[in-house]
Amino acid sequence: MRWTTAGTGAYRSPMETAADIVTLWPRWMESAGEMLRMNALVRTRCCGCGTLMRADLNDIVARHGPGYSLIDKLERCRMVECISSTFYLASRTYGGRWTTLLRDPELVTAFEDLPPVRTARG
Ligand SMILES: [Zn+2]
Repeated sequence: MRWTTAGTGAYRSPMETAADIVTLWPRWMESAGEMLRMNALVRTRCCGCGTLMRADLNDIVARHGPGYSLIDKLERCRMVECISSTFYLASRTYGGRWTTLLRDPELVTAFEDLPPVRTARG
């Protein structure tokens, strides 16, 4: 397991060091089953169209099992006519801080420049 390259994407301030980021990466984010147990919130964000979508942890656990990790997992965007990839974000509570579930430094770099977020409100 690599702990030195945890990424929190756009939510990371430039003042944080790698060591700080490790402490901000709680254990419950490591598995979908644990996130479900904590009632954590998970979203996907598309790197192409910027669409933000709710992800259903019940569905993810049913498909992949409770030990499945969403970290560095890319899925195809579900928006019609978009062929880009989405990555996962997690938050402990509503109104809480969203952590980008990317740890692989290549992915973190690839998703540094993202389009503006799009939701149902535009
Ligand atoms: Zn998309």
